[in-house]
Amino acid sequence: MLQGIPVSPGIAIGKVLIKKEQQIQLIKKNNINVTEELEKLTNSIDIAREQINQLYTLTLNTIGEKEAEIFDAHNMILDDPEFFGQIREKVASENINVEWAIKEVLDNFVMIFENMDNEYMRERAADLKDVSNRVIRIILGVELNDFSKLEEEVIIIANDLTPSDTAQMDKEKVIGFITEIGGRTSHTAIMARTLGIPAIVGVGNIIEFVENGDTIMFDGDNGEIIINPEEEEIEKYRVQIKQNEKIKTKLSQLKGCESVSEDGIKVELAANIGTPDDIDSVIEYDGEGVGLFRSEFLYMNRDKLPSEEEQFNAYKKVAKRMKSKNVIVRTLDIGGDKELEYLSLEKETNPFLGYRAIRLCLGEKEIFKTQLRALLRASAYGNIKIMFPMISSIEELREAKGLLEETKNELRDSKVQFNENIEVGIMIEIPAAALISDLLAKEVDFFSIGTNDLIQYMTAVDRMNQKISHLYNQYHPAVLRLINMVIDSGHKEGIWVGMCGEVAGDPKMIPILLGMGLDEFSMSPISILKARWIINHTSQKVMKEILKEVLMMSTGKEVEEFIDENIKIEY
Ligand code: PEP
Ligand code: MG
Repeated sequence: MLQGIPVSPGIAIGKVLIKKEQQIQLIKKNNINVTEELEKLTNSIDIAREQINQLYTLTLNTIGEKEAEIFDAHNMILDDPEFFGQIREKVASENINVEWAIKEVLDNFVMIFENMDNEYMRERAADLKDVSNRVIRIILGVELNDFSKLEEEVIIIANDLTPSDTAQMDKEKVIGFITEIGGRTSHTAIMARTLGIPAIVGVGNIIEFVENGDTIMFDGDNGEIIINPEEEEIEKYRVQIKQNEKIKTKLSQLKGCESVSEDGIKVELAANIGTPDDIDSVIEYDGEGVGLFRSEFLYMNRDKLPSEEEQFNAYKKVAKRMKSKNVIVRTLDIGGDKELEYLSLEKETNPFLGYRAIRLCLGEKEIFKTQLRALLRASAYGNIKIMFPMISSIEELREAKGLLEETKNELRDSKVQFNENIEVGIMIEIPAAALISDLLAKEVDFFSIGTNDLIQYMTAVDRMNQKISHLYNQYHPAVLRLINMVIDSGHKEGIWVGMCGEVAGDPKMIPILLGMGLDEFSMSPISILKARWIINHTSQKVMKEILKEVLMMSTGKEVEEFIDENIKIEY
């Protein structure tokens, strides 16, 4: 049995499909048969065109027209007489194999493009590489990792999955995934929860132990993985699956009910989303609002910044579908483990402590203002609230608010409508912000505690580093005390306090947070009904008493054991 970090609940039993890492070694061959080589090239271009057309249609149908455009550009490269002409010429004149000729011509083109002081041309270099690699892979018979059309149900095993891998996955057929790296709050994990697929991350070198077609079984609640299980082990898991299904049925009866504690305290159970399409699951699981729209996903998996219009349409769509409910859109949070290649930002030694989120937005004001304009315009269509990420000081907050006011004035001058009373909040995810939360609370309408980052910064534990994942601990007394302090500071200034980090959806922490007086809990949509059940079966008054004791405990282990023994929720 292998063990990993459980990041998305549920049990999965299915066939293994390994994501291949595509390191291709090219060898130069001389004295080849020129006609055969050129034929190989023509056939591979045809196959590549077919693949690209399929990707175009898939992206058009599942994501959108703008996103699909990239594949139009790829098709144009396949038709480029200059590029492929040079390759053919090289094969014939130098008598060399076609994949080597592609490599040489490509290197030459890329060198020219990349040295141009023109971002557009540099982007074309990336496209050219992409298309050429596709053709080379076809020639060499190296299969592409294409998870978009699968014949049978599979569990994907990978070293890591990119956001584009997960976005492209055939959601009907992928029933789980396991990765070798990552932690609870890596974006692979967050995506798994959003898709409602069981997942385990940080399993070391699992790829060495499995082959395509093996049967694998894992539990996304406790991190256990069994490769090629015995019949009785499968039976045990099947019983567990049945049990889970019973609980699911019970929980689904909570749709439409209030999230109110045993002693009548009402809280808001909202959802975290990455794209407008995620609203389907927010509605399915009866989310009472959107507590965190990670807007950076609109900027990912593409080759240039989204325009104001595209963003406006995305925010408006979410706002309209959620009607009068809260839709908290977090402004761009790029950096850390979320990169945007097309911004060509410098590589940093400590990206989580670097040029990310609000820091980047205050440095690249036009990018920020475009987003603010789109958000303000969309605020006329629903209940949008704006939230700034990674605020560490009053100055930063004031500067961000200043740019928001400037944008509002510009819209007023152009007679464009927006919600004049739009609420503005901040994420509390940097210890410095938590410690001055009494001061920050005077200048915002709400707080949302981002525990994913707050824990990593407080305890100096990289949230992505699986070697030290045992040190990443939400029950750490320092973490509990600081969260409690932030909630108190917010309440003293009369603002509401929410939480959108993963801790908000942790069944063990929900009663504790209720005791602290947290007003809003924002989590993956699939966690909402369970959270409602817990709130419905907990008394805030009782939890307030228990909390006094918990806040005096000295270790995370003590806290967790105490919760396990004393706060039991039956389903
Ligand atoms: C957080 O840090 O808790 C958070 C919600 O933001 P992200 O996980 O996107 O950094
Ligand atoms: Mg964060």
